[in-house]
Amino acid sequence: MRTVAQSNCPICGSTGIEEYSDLRDSLYGAPGRWHMKRCTSGRCGAFWLDPMPHPDDLALAYEGYYTHKAGFEMTHTLGERVRDAMISRRLGYPHRQSLALQLASHLLRFSPTRTEFALHNYFYLPWRKSGHVLEIGCGAGDQLLALQKAGWNVLGIDFDPDAVATAKARGLDVRLGDLRQALLPAASFDAIVMSHVIEHVIDPIGLLRECARILKPRGDFVAITPNASSWGHRKFRKSWRGLEPPRHLTVFTPRALRLAIAKAGMTPTRTRYSARDAANLLHSSARIEKLSAGASLEQSGQPPPRSLRTMEMIERMSGWMRMGLAEEQVQFATK
Ligand SMILES: [Zn+2]
Repeated sequence: MRTVAQSNCPICGSTGIEEYSDLRDSLYGAPGRWHMKRCTSGRCGAFWLDPMPHPDDLALAYEGYYTHKAGFEMTHTLGERVRDAMISRRLGYPHRQSLALQLASHLLRFSPTRTEFALHNYFYLPWRKSGHVLEIGCGAGDQLLALQKAGWNVLGIDFDPDAVATAKARGLDVRLGDLRQALLPAASFDAIVMSHVIEHVIDPIGLLRECARILKPRGDFVAITPNASSWGHRKFRKSWRGLEPPRHLTVFTPRALRLAIAKAGMTPTRTRYSARDAANLLHSSARIEKLSAGASLEQSGQPPPRSLRTMEMIERMSGWMRMGLAEEQVQFATK
């Protein structure tokens, strides 16, 4: 894979120090040994690959990577109706729910993991009547379908032709390719959302600027990405699952993400921290650590050990106290 030097921080332009060297893709076998720098600016602290993959060779990083397959079909199981009732209550969606469902949805608060997955499925997006939402990196459209079903007018965009074909076959309005080449009209969306996208792009501020251009004034912007300040990163260091070289080009601290959003012309509002899949992410990190130490692994598919499930629980509670230890950050912004 050809590479391009990226000596300064792609977010703030500061110099960095080499934090990790000789990183390898032990998950999906992409070629190369990678080096990651950490920005030394106190107002940023981003991590990035130096050198980065050459834009024309970036596709090589995704061979053997899971493609966006269509997930579960949106059926109307009881569990989903309860989840919908919970979303209606939390995010103000106009579902009419029976009293029994409303009561059941209150019980979901005793399952914080399910609640967090359900909120993530809707990008934590508060309801807007007749709202238009754009999802960047929509894959096969699982979440877009949920938003459409809830009453949003939806548009998606993704690089993966197979995923776009699947999304279209599901009746969704989805474009193939780059956001800037889609030439969407200025100030045309009430909401723009993306989950696990911003860390993959070569020019994150350029992408955010385009979001700022096409977002309506006072619109909602939501970006979900790994949290470089998480407990998991501090514990597992170069083996942390969130680094994912060479597909993750920039890994954001909450400060770096807010700075990037501000530089692009939007106003960051609140940050939420989510531990929704933390035990599994930490378990992957532990496996990467063992692999790089040359150890053989137990069979995959084992559930995370109790210690990592306890870590997830503590990360979740830290989020309630607005401490940023959880593995995922959800950054909200407006224009
Ligand atoms: Zn920086």
